[in-house]
Amino acid sequence: MALSATSVGTAFVRRRSPAGRAALLLLPGLAAACAFGGAPGAGPRVTVTPPRAVSPAPSADGVLTLRVGIAGERGVRILDLPLEDYVLAVVRAELPSGVLADPAAAGMLEVQAIVSRTFAIANLGRHRAEGFDVCGGTHCQVLRPPDAARAAPDEAARAVAATRSLVIAHEGRAIQALFHAACGGHTASGASVWGGSEPYLAAVPDSFCSRLPAQAWTFEADGASLARALASSPAMDVGTGLARIDITERDVSGRVTRVALTGSRTVSVRAEAFRGALRTAFGERSLRSTRFTVAQDGRRFIFQGTGLGHGVGLCQAGALERILAGVSPADVIAHYFPGTRVMPADGVGRPAP
Ligand SMILES: [Zn+2]
Ligand SMILES: [Zn+2]
Repeated sequence: MALSATSVGTAFVRRRSPAGRAALLLLPGLAAACAFGGAPGAGPRVTVTPPRAVSPAPSADGVLTLRVGIAGERGVRILDLPLEDYVLAVVRAELPSGVLADPAAAGMLEVQAIVSRTFAIANLGRHRAEGFDVCGGTHCQVLRPPDAARAAPDEAARAVAATRSLVIAHEGRAIQALFHAACGGHTASGASVWGGSEPYLAAVPDSFCSRLPAQAWTFEADGASLARALASSPAMDVGTGLARIDITERDVSGRVTRVALTGSRTVSVRAEAFRGALRTAFGERSLRSTRFTVAQDGRRFIFQGTGLGHGVGLCQAGALERILAGVSPADVIAHYFPGTRVMPADGVGRPAP
């Protein structure tokens, strides 16, 4: 099990702000299922490996190459990509075409490039047991294979070149640069979502995100189908029908952190695990975040919430709004990863022994 860094298939569409300024609105899209994630219903993919020191060992020609495993119907295809090519392929996949083509959003491409480069360096060898470094699914970072993107230099290529080798560091090490689609107004700490201790994965308010329209979502399901979704995990199995959901704990960001589920028996589970089980059963558009309330109407449960994704680290929707408002990429990153610095990967620290 491992925490996904990536957004859950963000899609943005253009909107016109009241002031007439062109802006971009985030809508939840479909996530690619990751072949390397946790078992279905296992809940949050929450193991974060210790960050590696900045300055990974380059290959003989001086270029760090990532071995990327891309799951397909015929098994896993391995792609060896120089780091900067990998970052470009990720930027092109993680940001929608409207953002990639908008000159006003150029800074967002730089933010994504720095974040995705940092994630790659911090997670080299994450899939060592399977014979590659990172996967091409939402478990690590999705990417658009370079062949499909071969074209004249574009904004994405410009942003990757402009930020070449820059990473986010904390105490000389590349951070776990997690990101998500939309926080809904307040990010979550790694500590509250899975018990992590990284000080830079702190919960921060995001006024830019809460101004966005279309942040609210609703999901409804009946107790019997919810019980079936939960039965895939012994720790969440409540029997044949779910009769009650009690929110027993929330964190500072307003996210639910624990729920008590009552059927023929009562279990108390982490809210991210509960969300994971529902996402597996009903899809990414079900419980989009743990920032929700729940009401009951007979046998049906009605969830209403804001935000999309786990809420930890950089919020893509808020980051984009900040860029469009004139905030620099470095200041955007500093907001979502407090206490960190953006610096050249080869200028700090040594590889971990
Ligand atoms: Zn992966
Ligand atoms: Zn946000």
